[in-house]
Amino acid sequence: MTLASGRSHIAIPGPSIIPDAVLQAMHRPAPDIYDTELLAMVDGMIPELKAVAQTAHEVAIYICNGHGAWEASLSNTVAPGEVVLVPTCGRFGHGWAEMAEGLGIEVQILEHGRQTPIDAERVRAALLADKGQRIKAVLAVHVDTSSSVRSDIAALRRVLDEVGHPALLMADCVASLACDVYRMDAWGADVTVSACQKGLMVPPGMGFVFFNPRAAEVQARMPRVSRYWDWRPRAHPEMFYQYFGGTAPTHHLYGLRAALDMIGSEGLEAVWARHARLAGALWAAVEHWGEEGAMRLNIADPAQRSHAVTALSLGKGNGDRLRAWCRDVAGVTLGIGLGAGDDEDPTASGYFRIGHMGHINAHMMLGVLAVIETGLKALDIPHRPGGVTVAAQRLAD
Ligand SMILES: *Cc1c(COP(=O)(O)O)cnc(C)c1O
Repeated sequence: MTLASGRSHIAIPGPSIIPDAVLQAMHRPAPDIYDTELLAMVDGMIPELKAVAQTAHEVAIYICNGHGAWEASLSNTVAPGEVVLVPTCGRFGHGWAEMAEGLGIEVQILEHGRQTPIDAERVRAALLADKGQRIKAVLAVHVDTSSSVRSDIAALRRVLDEVGHPALLMADCVASLACDVYRMDAWGADVTVSACQKGLMVPPGMGFVFFNPRAAEVQARMPRVSRYWDWRPRAHPEMFYQYFGGTAPTHHLYGLRAALDMIGSEGLEAVWARHARLAGALWAAVEHWGEEGAMRLNIADPAQRSHAVTALSLGKGNGDRLRAWCRDVAGVTLGIGLGAGDDEDPTASGYFRIGHMGHINAHMMLGVLAVIETGLKALDIPHRPGGVTVAAQRLAD
């Protein structure tokens, strides 16, 4: 029997749930891109977008996903043959590194596995070992969506300053922006990369690169920057057309306008606090279930866990079984695992992920948890019953 009819729920770590207000804002005829109303809307949105990244500096908007924003960030700052240092804590760190390799950039990986955040001391050692200061940028993923680990970006700034190394600090906040606390300027990131389909609640299709004056100086000294990725005209357009290197992503902009209204009326600090609280309830439930059986959060230390996505394992095969049950029987789609296999579970079939980013409230979180607990019972997967009650208590406190 299936109980999946009704409004389905997507709990994957991007694309995230699109609020009705965003969908409705996008449901309209094509506008004239030379119309002053659209121009004024975009001009008005830029400061709000910067505020979400907590920066007073610049932003360039691209019609692309996060991969495009990765390429944009590198195309403006690192020339072929130059070196980047990439401390990796999961799939997305490697993805950014691969993007660099594809551009002819030399990549130094500092592998951290998939269960710990970036170790600033290892970055310090790598910077100290770089005698000729060849490293042009450190690429750090704030929240690696595959492992759900969150790294300390401010700690990397401190290390760069203490070593006196001129490399740029570039942060990938695709998964964390408007979910986990992030302060670009206060933490000293020179470049921040993000996209619209996670915490910003808009369908995939816009990438953002925020950059400060240090990064702009580096860009000015580049031997060559591709016209399309060049962030200068996008940040300082003389004509509206230049904002987007061509035709504007009209409907995405209406969607983003609505999303920024939602974030603005709730308040960014309140948005962060909501994510933290809902994530805490989820962790409490998982820890309770795991007291009997194999369920484990991938990241042991709560201070190192993302508030936007949670990776967990459930023992060989059971992650895949639970996901199938939740989707087919209960209308809830959980995320696939991007865990690393081991001898016992080479395909990492025990891993799965829960996305809880953007448009999510207590009722949605409790619904997902109740469905998971029901699935554990239906599939006879060993667990300690009562995780939902523990989560409810956590939210009631
Ligand atoms: C989703 C994600 C990306 C990639 O974004 P796409 O839009 O899928 O290209 C990059 N980095 C992180 C941390 C992500 O979560």
